[in-house]
Amino acid sequence: MPAESSSAGSARGDASKLPRKNPVAGFGVTFKDVFKKRLTEQYPEYKKPTAPRFHGRHQLNRHPDGLEKCIGCELCAWACPADAIYVEGADNTEEERYSPGERYGRVYQINYLRCILCGLCVEACPTRALTMTNEYELADRSRESLIYTKEELLAGLEDGNGRIAPRDLPRHDRTGLLPGAW
Ligand code: SF4
Ligand code: SF4
Repeated sequence: MPAESSSAGSARGDASKLPRKNPVAGFGVTFKDVFKKRLTEQYPEYKKPTAPRFHGRHQLNRHPDGLEKCIGCELCAWACPADAIYVEGADNTEEERYSPGERYGRVYQINYLRCILCGLCVEACPTRALTMTNEYELADRSRESLIYTKEELLAGLEDGNGRIAPRDLPRHDRTGLLPGAW
């Protein structure tokens, strides 16, 4: 045991050699901040406006006549690095026409559990059908509710190309959701 006691003694000896600081000095940062003006964000009552080009929730836009700009080409889905977009295109018919051309997006879903809001899908879209709004409140209580359907992403008829998305469907309406796609 002499070796142990000698090593313990040496450790104690080293500690005693450490410079001793004023214990009150440790509260320097605390004291400095106590007298600063408090910065309290009154969220969610007051929402700070985002930067104009902030990447928020997506919107599927319409032409001025109300027809959808999306042609169901899937380029946005292929460009997405997070595999967060699911698209199924279909043919327009004279009886049932959704977009001016031959094809339209029959199913369109964005999974916000995966989306990193990078905007690459918007860059890839050839018709400017897909843009991003400034809306950032994307939290919800279940996984399915964060998969947004076409009906939820589509601009209201009155909005056209506007940046205000409708989101007027009740969030529990998941009729367009294809769980198998995810
Ligand atoms: S913003 Fe980025 S991650 Fe989100 S859907 Fe578009 S490409 Fe995918
Ligand atoms: S949003 Fe644009 S890129 Fe995506 S399917 Fe529609 S037209 Fe194609």
